[in-house]
Amino acid sequence: MAQLSDDCFAFGGPMMSVDEAVAIIAARVTPVHDIDTVSLVDADGRILASDISAPLPLPPFTNSAVDGYAVRSRDLPPREERAFAVTGRVQAGALASQAIRPNHAMRIFTGAPMPEGADTVFMQEDVRIDEAGRLVVPAGLKPGANVRPAGEDIAVGSSALAAGRRLRPQDVALAAAFGLTHVEVRRRIRVAVFSTGNELVSPGAPRAAAQLFDSNRFMLMAMLARLGCEVSDLGILRDDRASLAHGLKTVADSHDLILTTGGVSTGEEDHVKAGVESVGTLVLWRMAIKPGRPVAMGIIGGTPFIGLPGNPVASFVTFVHVVRPTVLALAGAAQQRLVPMPVRAAFSYKKKIARREYVRVTLRKGDHGLLEAVKFPREGAGLLSSLVDTDGLVELGEEITKVEPGQTVGFLGYASLM
Ligand code: AMP
Ligand code: MG
Repeated sequence: MAQLSDDCFAFGGPMMSVDEAVAIIAARVTPVHDIDTVSLVDADGRILASDISAPLPLPPFTNSAVDGYAVRSRDLPPREERAFAVTGRVQAGALASQAIRPNHAMRIFTGAPMPEGADTVFMQEDVRIDEAGRLVVPAGLKPGANVRPAGEDIAVGSSALAAGRRLRPQDVALAAAFGLTHVEVRRRIRVAVFSTGNELVSPGAPRAAAQLFDSNRFMLMAMLARLGCEVSDLGILRDDRASLAHGLKTVADSHDLILTTGGVSTGEEDHVKAGVESVGTLVLWRMAIKPGRPVAMGIIGGTPFIGLPGNPVASFVTFVHVVRPTVLALAGAAQQRLVPMPVRAAFSYKKKIARREYVRVTLRKGDHGLLEAVKFPREGAGLLSSLVDTDGLVELGEEITKVEPGQTVGFLGYASLM
């Protein structure tokens, strides 16, 4: 486990911006040390633990980019078409049995190594064979055309994949192209997830009239799984200081992060604060973000604790800005900045200055094929349908006070947030 100090999440100011929150997390949360060696089949989504530099050039040898005819560039006709005798043939996976002869062409296929002396390839679509069986090529082909030089993609020894990268399918392909069978990655982060609230029951259990089924826990567990975490589903804690304290204390040793939802607003029935304080330390981060309520940040026995709000939309949005950076920091991953895509607002909106707001929107194609963001018609932070029926969030920065239809705004698709 990464042991964090009790004052790890201390913050002086009254209100915290999203950027301050991410900066504090990135600077103060230390990654787990343990490393797993995984086969390439299991590498997607894992965090690379050490740099990989190219053990060989890519492509490893100079080869033809097309099916056609290899020649020497000094034999290329500058002004008029010319004929070549065709000698030899080289297929992908084989070496040419001889060097190219002056004023001859050699049949060659895509991916086959260039015969010695040849440096240019005519595409088969651009040539013809005359009655005498000779190859007739047009004038004007550039020397070196249709050839992929060794190392043109990646030079041997160059740094190719840096530690901290969250591996994507194309990164796995690069490791395979280097001939690697395994890569070293950080071990998965273990996250304990609880919901809190007397009104909650788990799906499958009988529901009393004043109860609702716990939905946040399943959303959060799914988001954590997408971030590559190993998740422990610890069910629902009652709104009672002692049972919260006991539940949290029990899991601290065996997890890298404890995550709860609900019970962190300042209502008197919110017991998470008292529960955490009796077994560790806690600060409430009042973040300048909407939707979002205070987020509880704590340390229990050296293990970080995050208490998210209970309203589903607030829980979702604060997850993105607090839990995601914490998971990335614990996992030894480079912080991945969220980059909003410019789209046109198809709505008007007023907001407070100095607070960041997220508007749930659906994208549609507007005039001239430009994407337009259509705002979900209702705003409640408890509306699950507002997340289900939309494509992502429009991010309105601290400095913005209003949005008019047609204005360019930044859009974050849901998939990019996990
Ligand atoms: P709280 O933050 O505990 O005051 O809860 C705020 C609102 O979110 C209340 O209406 C809760 O019933 C609701 N809520 C809290 N936790 C969950 C959950 N796990 N799933 C669904 N709704 C929840
Ligand atoms: Mg509650």
